Amino acid sequence: KLDFAGKMARSLGSNVREERVQAVDSVNLRIMPGEVVSLVGESGCGKSTLGRMICGILAQSEGKIFYKGKDVATMSVAEKLDYAINVQMIFQDPFASLNPRKRVRKIIGEAPLFHGLTTASELDEYLDGVMNQCGLDPSYKNRYPHQFSGGQRQRIGIARAMAVQPECLVCDESVAALDVSIQAQILNLFMELRENLNLTCLFISHDLGVVEHISDRIAVMYLGRIVESAPVDDLFDAPFHPYTQALLNEVPRLDKRGVDFSPLVGEIPSPLDPPTGCHFHPRCAHAMEICKQEVPQRREVAPGRWACCHLNG
Ligand code: SF4
Ligand code: MG
Repeated sequence: KLDFAGKMARSLGSNVREERVQAVDSVNLRIMPGEVVSLVGESGCGKSTLGRMICGILAQSEGKIFYKGKDVATMSVAEKLDYAINVQMIFQDPFASLNPRKRVRKIIGEAPLFHGLTTASELDEYLDGVMNQCGLDPSYKNRYPHQFSGGQRQRIGIARAMAVQPECLVCDESVAALDVSIQAQILNLFMELRENLNLTCLFISHDLGVVEHISDRIAVMYLGRIVESAPVDDLFDAPFHPYTQALLNEVPRLDKRGVDFSPLVGEIPSPLDPPTGCHFHPRCAHAMEICKQEVPQRREVAPGRWACCHLNG
């Protein structure tokens, strides 16, 4: 029912120079209905840009986005509206993404009223349902965002998205700004919503450890390219790509999985001037001569597992 696939690219013109920045370069990502996929990588790798393109907040300059098999670019107005309602984005900062002058009633209720999912006379009841579903006390619907804690504000952001009954959530660092204990509560909420409503989720995170327990599949992104994608257990048991290995090495673990890999060294290079060949070669402990010259192509390294790396396997 729900399916994104495509190679996407976005060029950002620089004000000062003629250079074009390719924030997202070679991406092939397919998300099946009810699946939770996490997109992981250091900040600045293009994850948020990709998430915003999928949600239609940013337009891509090349490539295609498909939703339920249809190219978003050639959809009719009605199909585009259906897409915009069904694919909702949850942002990182619940403080910045809620209008401080609007009551919760308005923040959550505006969109479902606009789209005719409820009526003014039934709004209260509708909001009760949505707020309960998201772990918010419905008796607080006349309050303003500043009257809530950080975790509750994120629940308001989630309730705002859930109020239009979407099929898919794109969550961009949605727990990164919260305390660890609150993070777990919000992640649990996402899992509950997924269980109860068969929601499809794309989680965007810089932290492999955060998404381990909620993901079916993980896609690792480096400087605009997805360098590896694999079912979550396969990825943690036997990461293929040296960048994935280095990221895993940074996740503190009791079971010591991942501790034997080379740590991540150096900084992520500027997307203005990405390294030739494999973008990761200046930081890779396994780099060979060919890595500097040739872009490694995406290939299936094991059933259901894909990687872009010149290493054999
Ligand atoms: Fe390292 Fe080469 Fe693989 Fe890139 S292609 S990750 S440089 S081994
Ligand atoms: Mg980001």
